[in-house]
Amino acid sequence: MLGVQLLGNSKVTVKEYPDPVLTENQVLIQVKDSGICGSEMHGFRGPNPQEFNGGHEVTGVVIDAGKSQRFKNGDRVGVHGVWGCGECRWCMAGQYTFCDNRESCPGTHAELVAAPDHVCLKLPDDVPFDVGVLLTGDGMGVPYHASRRLGTKGGDFVCVVGVGPIGLGNTMMQSFLGAEVIAIDINDYRLSLAKDVGAAHTINSQKNNPIEAVKELTHGMLADKCIEAVGRPETAKLALKLVGKAGTVLTLGEQGDVPVNVSGELIRYDVTLMGSWFYHYAEYPAIVDLYHRGLPVAKIITDHFPMEKAQEAFTKFSEGQAGKVMIEP
Ligand SMILES: [Zn+2]
Ligand SMILES: [Zn+2]
Repeated sequence: MLGVQLLGNSKVTVKEYPDPVLTENQVLIQVKDSGICGSEMHGFRGPNPQEFNGGHEVTGVVIDAGKSQRFKNGDRVGVHGVWGCGECRWCMAGQYTFCDNRESCPGTHAELVAAPDHVCLKLPDDVPFDVGVLLTGDGMGVPYHASRRLGTKGGDFVCVVGVGPIGLGNTMMQSFLGAEVIAIDINDYRLSLAKDVGAAHTINSQKNNPIEAVKELTHGMLADKCIEAVGRPETAKLALKLVGKAGTVLTLGEQGDVPVNVSGELIRYDVTLMGSWFYHYAEYPAIVDLYHRGLPVAKIITDHFPMEKAQEAFTKFSEGQAGKVMIEP
């Protein structure tokens, strides 16, 4: 099969790989759409070649279900990107992200992917493959899980710091659930996308002081909730400054240590600081329900590239001039 290899230094190539060999309870999927994730940018921009790629948001058609009891050939599926063991108490509850023996999806920018059948999710007939990537992957999964963690209510002021694809998904989800979303970024193109998917207000934090702007928009109260979707110490600190009394800061951007002033930023204001990772397999039906009730998921997808143009796809995504980018074998 053909697959994308990350070569490091912002270069990729498309080359021949051996076809996956199915083990017990796995299905073979012919890939239709594979989304590029922000988490792949470390590998893409870094100095070292990877053996394969870090793709983990994928939909396609089952073409070999011979080892599965759950699926048959021709089924349209997406794949949950965190592969729980399927046996432990967390997996039994559909919470694969908590599994101690979980594995990562091994790379999906390819013609074929083999996946355990218990991590596959059936796509309803009316869900196109590209939209399915967002419903079964990071795109809507992360924002949905975050919304459950935050308990967003109608009328909340929610700041989204960073509107790459994950921030855009959160902007859409929070707006759809009734929040007044303030999107903050330094990229005007992505701020215009944020407006398009539901942001009530946008702030370019290089041109305007975001704290002053949020104060003004919230009549001095600051935000009820703040979502950090960048993964840098300075944006995490900004999120803590944008949240008002008794508010909540939710971190989605992966990073290491960030200094927090426990008294000044948390205790004295009853501020809650929380994390949220990916989404639970068990949350998928609710995500599909929101799509059927009008969540305009397709608006986040700005580009589709055939796999032979993977270099163009990665470059465009890396340069920040795109929402969600799909690679199609
Ligand atoms: Zn991802
Ligand atoms: Zn498990």
